[in-house]
Amino acid sequence: MNLPVADNKSPDLVPEIPESVPESMAGDIELRRAAVDDAKPLAANWIANGARMLALARRVLDAGREPGYLEKIALAAARTHFHTDRRRSGVSESDAIIMIERNFQSISRALSMSDSIFAYVDGETAAKNTRGYFGSEFIVPAYAYAVSSIAFTADFPGLGPKCRAAVIIHQLAHFIDARIRDTAGAKGAAYDSLDHASALFNVHCYPNFAINVSPPFPDDRFGMMRPED
Ligand SMILES: [Zn+2]
Repeated sequence: MNLPVADNKSPDLVPEIPESVPESMAGDIELRRAAVDDAKPLAANWIANGARMLALARRVLDAGREPGYLEKIALAAARTHFHTDRRRSGVSESDAIIMIERNFQSISRALSMSDSIFAYVDGETAAKNTRGYFGSEFIVPAYAYAVSSIAFTADFPGLGPKCRAAVIIHQLAHFIDARIRDTAGAKGAAYDSLDHASALFNVHCYPNFAINVSPPFPDDRFGMMRPED
């Protein structure tokens, strides 16, 4: 499922966030805000686990010792999702992990500032801003403008709790860097054949990795391919 990431260099694409909302819209916007607020703790938990497990993996590599139980899980997940075992020459696996860690730290910071980043646009604005990215057959629960804002649409509250948390991480990954795009899907041959340099810019790697390093450590890929979960 591709979600739009606008090129924030184009001023036309800045979403219009209505300053005052007609009364009929207010309830719908409150519903969306509540659905996002409900999903934030799980997203925050997954993100924190992602950052923590990357630090563990980096430290064991730097120390050059045998990985313990959690460190093994962290290294395996870094290789599954971010392909830290397929690097450019001259980049150590520890260096590769630092690049992912920095992005997780930015994602975590962005989530902590979400009150000023998250927007709850009306349906018409959402339709206008996403037209051209998607046909009408797609559900677009949220979309991001890098380093600007993340808009949640009326489709967001209908998603399952894990899907919502994964969508929040997905959008935060778009938010922190315009180069992080929907490039190789969330699973399958294209996903598996990425190298580290390209996986860093595949938006799906971020929620997938974070979930994989959260107890009980399943490689369970939540998101718009599983909207009910
Ligand atoms: Zn996307």
